Amino acid sequence: MTCIASTCTRELRDHEIASAQLLCDPCLHRMRGWLQSIPAQLFVLREGSMQREVGGGGRTGTRTAPLPGRLDTLNLVGPAAAGTVVDPHGDQTGDMPIAGVLSSWVLLIAEERPARLPQRQTEEALADWLIPHLGWSSQQPWSGELHDELHGMMRAIWGITALQPRTRAISRPCPRCDRLELSRTDGDQYTRCGFCGTSYTTQELNDDAERRAAA
Ligand SMILES: [Zn+2]
Ligand SMILES: [Zn+2]
Repeated sequence: MTCIASTCTRELRDHEIASAQLLCDPCLHRMRGWLQSIPAQLFVLREGSMQREVGGGGRTGTRTAPLPGRLDTLNLVGPAAAGTVVDPHGDQTGDMPIAGVLSSWVLLIAEERPARLPQRQTEEALADWLIPHLGWSSQQPWSGELHDELHGMMRAIWGITALQPRTRAISRPCPRCDRLELSRTDGDQYTRCGFCGTSYTTQELNDDAERRAAA
């Protein structure tokens, strides 16, 4: 049985299956990291949006009226659409505001658990609220969509803030497929294979190195 995140092919480990997780630990760890990075990402988004507003920059020669700040930034940091629909099966990430993506999941989780809603509806408060519910969420059939939607939202943010974590190559063969495609991303405790998609803890890589040395 593999992790249900669409970008992940990691086989679930025994302890993950025992705790009824459908998402693997590496995916959960990354999701936590994304949510924890929201305050810093928003700071940059808002700063950038204000600078563009003050500078009046932007492309010249366009026929459309100048916008105060980049439209993509405004979309991301704008308020959630009124009456946000809980739509875990849709794919409305595109230009959906961060608050909209986060609050639709907050509403769904709060209703299903049940749990009390966060007092404030800011992006930071919504992200903060979701973090302790990730473990429970990873046992739900929609957890793959939660992962994918948060990932889509983060990619949209990274496209503007350029605060995407850096990735560097690890010069060891992948324990599973033997290719030299392992890499490690800042803040990620797992090393991932770009070819087969498997992710490893440092312990798992060390065990593999020992096995190879002993072979
Ligand atoms: Zn996974
Ligand atoms: Zn591999």
